Amino acid sequence: PRLANQIAAGEVVERPSSVLKELVENAIDAGSRRIEIDLENGGTRLIKVRDDGHGIDEADLPLALSRHATSKIVSLEELEGVTSLGFRGEALASISSVSRLELASNTADDPAGGWRVVAEGRQMEPRVAPVPHPRGTSVTVRDLFFNTPARRKFLRTEKTEFAHAEEAFRRLALSRYNIGWVLRHNQKTVHQLRPADDNAASERRIAALLGAKFLDNALHIDLEVTGMRLWGWVGLPTHARAQADQQYFFVNGRVVRDRLIAHAVRQAYRDVLFHGRHPVFVLYLDVDPLVVDVNVHPTKHEVRFRDGRLVHDFLFSSLHRALGEVRPRDGS
Ligand code: ADP
Ligand code: MG
Repeated sequence: PRLANQIAAGEVVERPSSVLKELVENAIDAGSRRIEIDLENGGTRLIKVRDDGHGIDEADLPLALSRHATSKIVSLEELEGVTSLGFRGEALASISSVSRLELASNTADDPAGGWRVVAEGRQMEPRVAPVPHPRGTSVTVRDLFFNTPARRKFLRTEKTEFAHAEEAFRRLALSRYNIGWVLRHNQKTVHQLRPADDNAASERRIAALLGAKFLDNALHIDLEVTGMRLWGWVGLPTHARAQADQQYFFVNGRVVRDRLIAHAVRQAYRDVLFHGRHPVFVLYLDVDPLVVDVNVHPTKHEVRFRDGRLVHDFLFSSLHRALGEVRPRDGS
């Protein structure tokens, strides 16, 4: 099973940023209100994610590290009703097979309570030992790929790995405004974001994550039809050289890259885009699974709508109308 885990790890764990994503998604699924992330050396030496979620029971700690033992999906049909981010039950098993992992947790409010379990590559220490831990969970991942040199070879410089990790953090922090976040790199605080419970606070978060310029030409939108709501910020960059990558699209709280969505967005922007400029947006499509069938692939960021036409037309018409009101302020 350890070998199977290492093979599976190839699909889930590409680099530190993918570990960060998996650990944080678990923290989100646990109902956390505050998530703290520590990275060292771009995440290759250390990735630690601490949350204040519901925690893991003593008896469930070793299970959390075993493959599929925790999968919440029983049948394929159930996939359609899935609202949690994780459902394959293999992320922790995969990560622990290629790193030194410690999982510590407490389900009670007693800060002296808590349990931990460790795994080092193929060696799993099955004994669960007591450890003081506040309510919630900490996962510490050290020395990623220490036992898989072939994979380690593909890791890039500290700077590049951190850039990937920070981008993963941006997406996650933009996906949940009600959570407070801290990201530290080599003991230095890079982002500290309080929970945002209104528009102004959300815009402060966006400015902190994407730069104040992002909102300069942006328009806030919020449109709803039966079963679908599209909200967020759309804009035009002021400079032709502005980054092409400030495009964030979330479907039901998951970041998504999808052809149907990209097409609708591109069409809507067609009349207002100047040569060499890229659209920038942070958009949220919330769909009622009872009205619009949505199926998001867990790692590929793809989404499948049974009613693709309906979604496409809603996106296009909402954005097209909204963008008619966007006027670049530099007069060009
Ligand atoms: P999945 O998220 O697909 O279920 P994972 O391997 O990511 O699989 O996690 C295994 C299980 O461990 C989860 O289903 C959950 O029960 C538990 N778990 C992991 N991380 C946390 C956390 N931060 N808080 C509470 N439970 C967690
Ligand atoms: Mg998970």
